[in-house]
Amino acid sequence: MNNLNSRQKQAVSYIDGPCLVLAGAGSGKTSVITRKIAYLVDECGYTAHHIAALTFTNKAAREMKERVSALLKGGRAKGLTVSTFHNLGLNIIRKEHKALGFKPGFSIFDAEDAKSLLRELMLKDGDLDSDQLDLTQHHISNWKNDLVTPEHAMSRASSDGEYLMALVYQRYNQALRAYNAVDFDDLILLPVQLFSEQPNILDSWKRRIRYLLVDEYQDTNNSQYRLVKQLVGDRAALTVVGDDDQSIYAWRGARPENMTQLKVDFPQLEVIKLEQNYRSTQRILKVANHLIAHNPHEFEKTLWSEKAIGEPIRIIKCTNEDSEAERVATEILNQKMQRQVSYKDFAILYRGNHQARLMELKLQQHQIPYSMSGGTSFFARTEIKDIMAYFRLIINPDDDNAFLRIINTPRRQIGTSTLETLGNYATTREISMFQACQEIGLQQQLAANTSERIQRFCHWMEKLTIETESEKATAALRQLINDIDYEGWLHQNASSAKVAERRLENVHYLIESIAKMLEPTDPAREPLNLKDAIAKLVLMDLLDRQEEAEVQDQVQMMTLHASKGLEFPHVFILGMEEDILPHRTSIEEDNIEEERRLAYVGITRAEKTLTLTLAGKRKQYGEVLETSMSRFIDELPENDLEQEGFGQYNPEKNQARGRATLDNLKNLFDDL
Ligand code: ATP
Ligand code: MG
Repeated sequence: MNNLNSRQKQAVSYIDGPCLVLAGAGSGKTSVITRKIAYLVDECGYTAHHIAALTFTNKAAREMKERVSALLKGGRAKGLTVSTFHNLGLNIIRKEHKALGFKPGFSIFDAEDAKSLLRELMLKDGDLDSDQLDLTQHHISNWKNDLVTPEHAMSRASSDGEYLMALVYQRYNQALRAYNAVDFDDLILLPVQLFSEQPNILDSWKRRIRYLLVDEYQDTNNSQYRLVKQLVGDRAALTVVGDDDQSIYAWRGARPENMTQLKVDFPQLEVIKLEQNYRSTQRILKVANHLIAHNPHEFEKTLWSEKAIGEPIRIIKCTNEDSEAERVATEILNQKMQRQVSYKDFAILYRGNHQARLMELKLQQHQIPYSMSGGTSFFARTEIKDIMAYFRLIINPDDDNAFLRIINTPRRQIGTSTLETLGNYATTREISMFQACQEIGLQQQLAANTSERIQRFCHWMEKLTIETESEKATAALRQLINDIDYEGWLHQNASSAKVAERRLENVHYLIESIAKMLEPTDPAREPLNLKDAIAKLVLMDLLDRQEEAEVQDQVQMMTLHASKGLEFPHVFILGMEEDILPHRTSIEEDNIEEERRLAYVGITRAEKTLTLTLAGKRKQYGEVLETSMSRFIDELPENDLEQEGFGQYNPEKNQARGRATLDNLKNLFDDL
């Protein structure tokens, strides 16, 4: 406790009831959580097994775990749960699958799987455009996050359109059941429903989790908050920490109101505010405070720092997006030399993943090592989705989505008409496609050679499945890759041999990760069976890959959303332009406050220097368009900025936007 300030100490040692730590960025909220876990074990007689700490991203969970293990050495952290909400939900469903009516080895549908299922269901009703599909998916997700059942959604529908959507929701849930699958939102919803229907099951989980801590509490949605309330019950052994200024997931149903709701639900709530920031220089902090002061505030917070004033915040305007990326790459090279620091001390943050591509290219050209997270997730790569689909089918033969993904990958000469016959047969008989393949009834409907090919595939899958249940599971998975000659397939389909090789490496990486889960080298880790390992992997997004990346010396690239909770000595934020940050849709929907919070999150990641860049012109929708500088730059205190690329004149701050336009003109002439 020695190096904590008095408020932090108070938050760590308060165990008489529920506790909310409400404080700005970098004030040590996450530190309070990790210290409190150690305190509960060391001073209050809790075993780690009875403590759970929850957060939102895998990266944040991993960081927290590392911080706790450094505090609780010698196996005292054994059995501790530090995970994302979704991971906890998955564990609950896995353990209680029988009560929930699922078979073991159920599948987890990601957004893409869910969308293809929805498409199939909605196509039956006639024409379908992609907007409608997205809208329906979004609605269903919101309903689930708000704990609204299909029946409930139908009964309160206010228009025909909404009623139809609720009907699709119902059919979608039924289809998921038939596939023995859950979607992402179900990972929270199903435990909540189960706990409210079967109090005895809830009781057993309450006996397991005796103290609960939640980081980034401002991002909880309705169902997550309900889960927290259920688990803590009247005992209310609960500490949550959060910052309403960093609430950036409203679009996913997050309810920062859950902070005020806590006081209503737990009148004995102890609220502790932290005010000292330990992360950033005075200037970075001042800039962040100025920006966020433009949002209305429910809770007043003051943040101060004892650190040095620090360097001015640099705003660099480049001609176009290409020169922006080039500039950031060369800045990193120069600063690394000048400051004698490592690549991993730099982070490049951006609003959307599409901004990363050019940046990646430039980093590659300059041979700057980097790792990317929150972007195209490892598990979203085609090759990983293919191989994972094989694994999913092994653990759950009823997973039709997985079946359809791989039946012709690599090609097995099974045409669409065969698949149609197969699909129809399976639907009529209400069985899965894999099961249908094995029925004489179907075989009679197909040409002899087609039927034979399908049989061969099924026998092979069954043989593999049996092998994966033995102690030779890992060998069987490796065999699978050979049997299908996936390497050959990759070479046939990739744009170059190099690309194919990288993809193959990814596949090997996946298998080795599974091998590590089945036969862990670390004795503190419990070996998993294949079913559990695959289920866990589906959730993990990039997880192990990043772990590996972090020990290496690489520039960190990620979206602003993914950067929450993290910190880096030198931060670059790209694309400080209207339509990017704030994002165009948010401007149209007049939702600037959330975008401002997002910018605030980005700025407050920086410890020592902060550089904001923008491009005067940018290619958008296939056209090169003039941009205007983000309004957020206008909101920063000018004396703390060092601007570059805005021409020789240095007009007054409030003319900044006019200046940017003038500059655009200048750039235009430069190009002529
Ligand atoms: P965010 O809002 O961004 O999630 P946070 O409030 O969770 O930030 P932490 O990440 O816990 O803040 O802490 C920020 C930094 O300050 C960390 O590097 C942490 O080690 C350091 N820190 C926290 N408390 C203290 C302290 N009492 N003395 C010195 N350093 C501290
Ligand atoms: Mg934190």
